[in-house]
Amino acid sequence: MTQANGAGDGGRLTDVSALRPGGHAVVVGGGLAGVTSALALADAGVRVTLLEGRPRLGGLAFSFQRGDLTVDNGQHVYLRCCTAYRWFLDRIGGAALAPVQDRLDVPVLDLERPEGRRLGRLRRDALPVPLHLGRSLAAYPHLSLAERASVGRAALALKGLDLADPTLDTQDFGSWLTAHGQSARAVEALWDLVGVATLNAVAGDASLGLAAMVFKTGLLSDPGAADIGWAHVPLGELHDRLARKALDSAGVRTEVRTRATSVSVNENGGWSVQVPGETLEADAVVLAVPQREAHDLLPDGSLDAPENLLRIGTAPILNIHVVYDRKVLAAPFLTALGTPVQWVFDRTEASGLKEGQYLALSQSTAQNEIDEPVAALRERYLPELERLLPRTRGAEVKDFFVTRERTATFAPAPGVGRLRPGARTKAPGLYLAGAWTATGWPATMESAVRSGVGAAGAALGALGRSRGLLPDFFEEAA
Ligand SMILES: Cc1cc2nc3c(=O)[nH]c(=O)nc-3n(C[C@H](O)[C@H](O)[C@H](O)COP(=O)(O)OP(=O)(O)OC[C@H]3O[C@@H](n4cnc5c(N)ncnc54)[C@H](O)[C@@H]3O)c2cc1C
Repeated sequence: MTQANGAGDGGRLTDVSALRPGGHAVVVGGGLAGVTSALALADAGVRVTLLEGRPRLGGLAFSFQRGDLTVDNGQHVYLRCCTAYRWFLDRIGGAALAPVQDRLDVPVLDLERPEGRRLGRLRRDALPVPLHLGRSLAAYPHLSLAERASVGRAALALKGLDLADPTLDTQDFGSWLTAHGQSARAVEALWDLVGVATLNAVAGDASLGLAAMVFKTGLLSDPGAADIGWAHVPLGELHDRLARKALDSAGVRTEVRTRATSVSVNENGGWSVQVPGETLEADAVVLAVPQREAHDLLPDGSLDAPENLLRIGTAPILNIHVVYDRKVLAAPFLTALGTPVQWVFDRTEASGLKEGQYLALSQSTAQNEIDEPVAALRERYLPELERLLPRTRGAEVKDFFVTRERTATFAPAPGVGRLRPGARTKAPGLYLAGAWTATGWPATMESAVRSGVGAAGAALGALGRSRGLLPDFFEEAA
């Protein structure tokens, strides 16, 4: 870690009262957390510089060109209950480009029923919680009658869990499901179907606290909470172009291709942020970088247990992209059982493809496949797509490629909760943001935006600025 210059005796850094009201804030990291932080600070009247090491904003949720095709590095979805991400979309003027479906409706195709392929649906109706899912669950063909009844009982038990109970984070979700009568089939065909996509871990590897948070908030809070939203344009259009436009209008100085190499206390009790060829002086700094980078940039003494950041594990997500010469999937997306294929999304329109259809397979918990050669993945997945989507059988594959995100999310393992720091560090004027910080959410766009607003809110207090303009979901950071 870098040394905090002028840190004073006993690791005490500068006093908060030394900070100039108003002042200049530097936000390091132009992912969703950093962009949000920069916007929230600028909206409150602070002069802001945003530094991003890569040539674009958006961090882990971005697009790139492959010939004429605009490709997202990974399919990203959010739920109606993601109020922070929805605020972000509004703030950058992108809400209409990433709409939420009217009502939760997920086709679930099972390829391994004795009677052949079978389609089920997870959808809600207009009834209040938990009845909104009752009819869909009662008719869900991928579980026996007894399993469906038992899922209902487990859901009610889950609803009764107190998310503030720290012992939830010490248990794994899989054991809790077993203890609540869930068969291996119920875990596979229902709990993991949702959990793997939202947590990036199977139930047995997931913290009960995080799983309970996801299921309670998404499925058991408001009837519309789990309605699914996704970008109908490339992610870069939202997280880079429109974000950049909003930052410019808010007066933020945004520097891409600019990597911060150190953060230290300066002689005035403020902060110096070193970038190649320049030292930026700041009254407040938000480190909105991944946990390992945050660990390396944090000055000594700014966290009680900085090594905890290195103990937060990571988990990969693989996306498999296939372009067919014709339309092979009618639905915008579907998910599947009895095949390695997890979720399939139609990306044709968003990618700009003019002829044929472009499908993206989103494969979470991809530890076993993340380093496999493209040829091996092609050999495995094209036949699986033929099983799943009969229309692919006569279709020509025009393109096949993969995108690999080895550290897509933090691993939501039991015990991760106590490793995630809040926005405040022990060093006044220095704050942390990132999906991996203690937002209570798994590693999602929602968590990133929440963390960004949380860090901005904490910084505004120190800068003597009003938090009045922060969005409703802002809660005082830990
Ligand atoms: C394939 C994939 C699929 C996903 N699917 C979903 C999904 O469906 N729904 C969902 O909600 N979430 C999903 N996620 C997770 C979501 O993308 C992330 O949680 C979120 O984008 C993280 O944002 P962040 O700002 O916290 O971090 P990051 O996006 O990691 O941003 C950190 C930024 O800091 C920059 N940086 C690092 N060090 C420095 C430095 N020294 N100086 C300057 N800049 C620096 C990095 O370049 C990066 O841009 C997915 C992620 C992946 C990879």
